[in-house]
Amino acid sequence: MDTALVIIFALFGTALGSFLNVCIDRLPVDRSILRPPSHCDSCQHRLSPADLVPVFSYLWLRRRCRYCGALIPWRPFWVELGTGLLFALSYLYFGLSVSFVVIAFYGCLFLVIGFIDLEHHLILNKISYPAMVLAPVIAIFRPPSELIALNLAWPWGGIVSSLMGGAMGFLFLLLAYLLTFAIYKREAIGFGDVKLAGLIGLVAGPQLVFLALTLGAILGGVVGIILLLLKLKERKEPLPFGSFLAIATILTLVWGSAILNWYLGLLHF
Ligand SMILES: [Zn+2]
Repeated sequence: MDTALVIIFALFGTALGSFLNVCIDRLPVDRSILRPPSHCDSCQHRLSPADLVPVFSYLWLRRRCRYCGALIPWRPFWVELGTGLLFALSYLYFGLSVSFVVIAFYGCLFLVIGFIDLEHHLILNKISYPAMVLAPVIAIFRPPSELIALNLAWPWGGIVSSLMGGAMGFLFLLLAYLLTFAIYKREAIGFGDVKLAGLIGLVAGPQLVFLALTLGAILGGVVGIILLLLKLKERKEPLPFGSFLAIATILTLVWGSAILNWYLGLLHF
């Protein structure tokens, strides 16, 4: 692996992270992601290129607007840093390959979905639906799972694998949705999460989709219990399950095959 390329992709990732921040800010409130250019939310001053250097501007200016001194929230910083890490790790893991491009793209997609759910408790159809159409097409060029060996001629193997994963993810969370509804007499899981599980299946394929959903449920459960114990959360207040599913999906896309191989190896032992 070329160290210079790792650094270049990490920096490219942080720059793309700035754009993802704009998407997270504007898509839930139906504003254009292209116009107007970036500005301070407090004083509306347009930001200069020096204010927009990802991660670094943030640290230089100590989280404050250069023009009015307003405190900037933490989220843009974490999204930029996260996207930079995503690109560096995907390159380290997959090298210069179709997998690298596809996994980095999906990582960006699920970062946006996860942060919007965290801040607005919403999973936007205008993101989920186009992604659901796109995923089987991407699967033609990169089948969702390296583990599955479908004896189908190109391009059908990838498409069938994607559609199988989508159906399984959707049906699995639909079952959980109906069961919890019967028990609690109210929506314990949002229907947006059910559609999100379908998207995760289309992206991850029939084997890794269960790893992603399980990992998401475990993450959500652990964080929920910790927040309850620290009394940071009321018992009735729902957690943004979609955010945990999104993080779990990113982890699964990068390391899922390795985790599953390790686990299957344990069973053989
Ligand atoms: Zn300002």
